[in-house]
Amino acid sequence: MQTYRLVRDIPVDREYDLVVAGGGPGGTAAAVCAARLGAKVLLVEATGCLGGMGTSGLVTSFDPMADGEKMLVGGFMREVVETMYERGFIPARISPDRWRRAYHQWTPFHPEGLKLLLDELAQKAGVEVRFFSRVIDADVDRNSKRVNGVIVQNVEGYRYVPAKTFVDATGDAVLADLCGAECREAGRDTEKIMPATLCALFAGIDWSRVEFESDPLNPICGIGPKDLQPKVEDAIERGGYFTQPDRQMPAIESIGKSLGYSNSGHVFRTNSLRVDSLTNGMILGRKIVQEYARFYRDYVAGFENLELVTTASLLGVRESRRIVGEYELNFEDYLARRQFPDQIGVFNKYVDIHLYDCTDDEFMNYLEEFTNSRLGVGECHGIPYSILVPKGWANLWVAGRCNSSDVKVHGAIRVQPAAAMMGQAVGTAAVQSIATGQPACDLDTQRLVETLREAGAYLPQEKLSRHMTRQ
Ligand SMILES: Cc1cc2nc3c(=O)[nH]c(=O)nc-3n(C[C@H](O)[C@H](O)[C@H](O)COP(=O)(O)OP(=O)(O)OC[C@H]3O[C@@H](n4cnc5c(N)ncnc54)[C@H](O)[C@@H]3O)c2cc1C
Repeated sequence: MQTYRLVRDIPVDREYDLVVAGGGPGGTAAAVCAARLGAKVLLVEATGCLGGMGTSGLVTSFDPMADGEKMLVGGFMREVVETMYERGFIPARISPDRWRRAYHQWTPFHPEGLKLLLDELAQKAGVEVRFFSRVIDADVDRNSKRVNGVIVQNVEGYRYVPAKTFVDATGDAVLADLCGAECREAGRDTEKIMPATLCALFAGIDWSRVEFESDPLNPICGIGPKDLQPKVEDAIERGGYFTQPDRQMPAIESIGKSLGYSNSGHVFRTNSLRVDSLTNGMILGRKIVQEYARFYRDYVAGFENLELVTTASLLGVRESRRIVGEYELNFEDYLARRQFPDQIGVFNKYVDIHLYDCTDDEFMNYLEEFTNSRLGVGECHGIPYSILVPKGWANLWVAGRCNSSDVKVHGAIRVQPAAAMMGQAVGTAAVQSIATGQPACDLDTQRLVETLREAGAYLPQEKLSRHMTRQ
């Protein structure tokens, strides 16, 4: 491709302690928690609301947060879910046991409730939020692996924003990549890319007539109405419903009196780092949502009058680019239920790898994976601090989906509660780094863990260490 050299003077903003790129669960937690510790924080978000996939992506359900006995997810995320419940943004039929104790149970919520609450939490903490703004470049000292500033683009043009520390919570490791930090890309460094899904909201559902699936760990049940899987199989067999014979469980959950959130169908081989692939993904995603609407109306009692309200404005991307961190959390660690001295969270979720295509072999692989890779009641594995630090970098962290983990573990920890725990950890780490002069890649992790515990994180490791876990 030909190149064009862009040379121009742009305004320089005032300096911040921390700039966070991306306001999903990872970025919002990082920004709010750092600001609560006294940092001057700028949160740059490409869309017009906080919440990321949970709001703009209409993924309106929090993944499991307990191990069947106790809640594993504390701190900021616990505050969010408890407040959502108190404010009526979680359907009344859901008991708090769902997130405080239950084994592998999701907590649905209303996306407008999450938007409102995150606005309030950010404002109250004193975070400066800039919506409709994108981090598009970085000024970096590559020798010392230090970021000096980022270029932010919005309706006012370009701004250079200097800061002491930076968090990449873009999901796609956009900032880490712009900085030249080493990253891995699905589809480039691995053969496959997990499919995307365009989520949607449906209205007109008579939930009082819907029989719910009681066993969320039945691999072919779907989340929501009972026996969705045999119904999908029947619709595929009969023909005329779906463009592609996608046999993986669809999910549709109640988030209001007559409202349902749908996470149904897949857009295979979408590469979210390529704009034409993303564009085609949205176009096919919208078509697939209409197909599921018809399927639900015809097949599920209580869904006869279902209407599509809207599809999401962000495509639901499960896998794209991740950093190469100081440590890569791997499947052996997961199976060993490994605990780390520097862990900043613990989690218990099965390895959620979706079908890579519609073949029968792939469906069998999926069922096997789903059934065989899960931790039991009362079990958990640790999430170490070192998977959030791009290798060797001084003042750059990531939170959320772009963490350093192998494909399988990534399938377990890419979800909203884990992303929020990571965000709280790196926001706290950034403040500690500014106060002590310790770089991200050599932070005193004992002190970090102690600060996180004081802020309500559940970190059960007995042994602490001043040094992070490394490869
Ligand atoms: C289809 C699907 C279903 C899922 N189901 C569940 C579920 O049931 N429960 C659950 O808990 N999790 C679920 N997940 C996972 C979860 O929603 C995401 O992985 C999680 O939200 C990741 O958090 P994040 O903070 O890393 O990124 P995101 O939530 O993706 O947020 C990233 C934010 O960064 C912004 N951004 C991107 N680039 C830039 C830039 N250059 N400058 C400024 N801003 C930028 C985006 O606009 C976005 O708001 C699902 C995911 C998908 C795709």
